[in-house]
Amino acid sequence: MAEKQPTPKELLDRIDYQPPHADWMETPVDIRKGMYCYASNPKSVATLGLPNARPWNPLDEDWKLPENWQQIIHEGFKERLERFRSVKLFMDICVRCGACADKCHYFIGTGDPKNMPVLRAELLRSVYRNDFTRLGKLLGKANGARPLTLDVLKEWWYYLFQCSECRRCSLYCPYGIDTAEITIFGRELLNLVGLNIDWIATPVSNCYMTGNHLGIQPHAFKDMLDFFVDDIEEKTGVKVAPKYMKKGADILFITPSGDVFADPGTYTAMGYMMLFHYLEEKYGLDVTWSTYASEGGNFGFFTS
Ligand code: SF4
Ligand code: SF4
Repeated sequence: MAEKQPTPKELLDRIDYQPPHADWMETPVDIRKGMYCYASNPKSVATLGLPNARPWNPLDEDWKLPENWQQIIHEGFKERLERFRSVKLFMDICVRCGACADKCHYFIGTGDPKNMPVLRAELLRSVYRNDFTRLGKLLGKANGARPLTLDVLKEWWYYLFQCSECRRCSLYCPYGIDTAEITIFGRELLNLVGLNIDWIATPVSNCYMTGNHLGIQPHAFKDMLDFFVDDIEEKTGVKVAPKYMKKGADILFITPSGDVFADPGTYTAMGYMMLFHYLEEKYGLDVTWSTYASEGGNFGFFTS
């Protein structure tokens, strides 16, 4: 029997903004049902050439990590600190003023303090202090440092993927700390040991294999646009004629595939088609679609 879904009121009543009694470092991660994304399909991970493709389940004790996962993450952390000055700066300069705390929709929607941007970043910063700063090495927890244990890694995975990279929090930070950049950095580290989510890995793999995240084949792409041609003619009396992969066209037009396959984006696509028809009639501008390069959405952005 299907599980009873909570009502919106029940969901809202569950949100508790009271500060927890225990220190955040003493609060173990609780991977809650309905609050995490499924682990990625190993086939998609292999297609992308990412490491450690295997079936795994976030609810299992054993995440099937490589034996030297701590070393891999430590080296990845070090390499990125050297490469990205911004990340190094963001690790050092937060004064914990809290201005960003209530700006994240994940915190507003859950009441979970680890979803405050400041604390989301602190999950990584604590390990940074432990591994890369003198004071952190000397003073440990008193300096907000902690070693990277399996529980910490699981906490990273759970909270770093609860960020939509919207950058709203950075607008309120007096130092301009960009938590989105920090979570992108953290996800890169997680990907090094095969901790991805399927909401990202499979759409990206589909982009590799068919040109769009939905995995729609070229003939289906063309079919959809042909339907739109009929709809446009029915409404306007004008028959537009989209072009596909036309060599020598003035413009190659690529839009997020949601515009072609899902309402209300389809209305936007019909608007494009009418515009292109007009541009050709009036100015002789030649616009072509591609049934292979058929994704303008940036799913890779969410991977790393
Ligand atoms: S960038 Fe991430 S942490 Fe910041 S407000 Fe957006 S979702 Fe929240
Ligand atoms: S607003 Fe900036 S400085 Fe203040 S707690 Fe958030 S990230 Fe740190």
